[in-house]
Amino acid sequence: MLSYRHSFHAGNHGDVLKHLCQILLLDKLATKAKPYVYIDTHSGRGLYSFDSEQALKTREFDSGITRLMAATTHSPALNRYKSVVAPFYEQNEYPGSPALALSQLREQDSGILMELHSDEIHHLKRLQRHERVAIHHRDGFEGVVALTPPNPKRGLVLIDPPYEQASEYGTLFDALSDAIARWQTGVYAIWYPLLSVRAKEKAGMSEALVEKLPSLPVKSVLDIRLSVCENHENAGMFGSGMVIINAPWQFDEHIYPALEELTPLLATDSGANFSINWLKAPE
Ligand code: SAM
Repeated sequence: MLSYRHSFHAGNHGDVLKHLCQILLLDKLATKAKPYVYIDTHSGRGLYSFDSEQALKTREFDSGITRLMAATTHSPALNRYKSVVAPFYEQNEYPGSPALALSQLREQDSGILMELHSDEIHHLKRLQRHERVAIHHRDGFEGVVALTPPNPKRGLVLIDPPYEQASEYGTLFDALSDAIARWQTGVYAIWYPLLSVRAKEKAGMSEALVEKLPSLPVKSVLDIRLSVCENHENAGMFGSGMVIINAPWQFDEHIYPALEELTPLLATDSGANFSINWLKAPE
């Protein structure tokens, strides 16, 4: 069952956290001239119009990217993310993870974008501009294992499933373990929702998944969370997190001022907060 559509959620607080991290990670990879590969296991359609029926139904962007773009901000990391979003935003669009990545790839870099939904892949394929980017209509959990280790062996994998089914948490862990067994030095970024008890059996499942990640044979595991409100019963998705496996040196210090400035901007009540924790610190 594939009923999830990211168009309802594009530009929300979860996307802001995810894409801020994504841009900063790509920037770190681009500090060396050596090529890198960007792998997106769950790409979505790539670009989202703020005028679509779905976006206007929920208006989730209003409490996410709209607040940020309207604010005067000072953190260099936050301003960098805003500058990448700006050309899309001016066209009344929000760039999903593939559009953000493709806007950053240099001549020597390459991309692999995967998406399972037949409508979404149709839209995603419109982003294809050069041969260095491969777009696959396939299961991203299977694909990330089959396509690793990539060539070059330097890059970022973004894992951003819809978490529609409770079983996706286990599938994610198994696929990630298998991919890491084949490619230990890759940077892996895993987005996850923080859900209140309203989400029934899925509440707490993200936290349980994150707790298992330090057991993987990797150099480091960094957990970054941003909650926009108190975790009260009816909050739904009250925040989200990004786990970064093999995070670049000092990534925690780099992102700290951005989250310090972003959290009050996205807050919907006084329970908003953020955290940055090494679950496995680099040696
Ligand atoms: N990463 C995108 C971004 O940041 O713009 C958003 C992705 S959205 C949260 C999740 C996407 O995964 C949906 O488009 C859904 O159709 C797709 N999907 C669901 N199951 C999948 C699977 N097993 N493999 C690949 N894509 C899948």
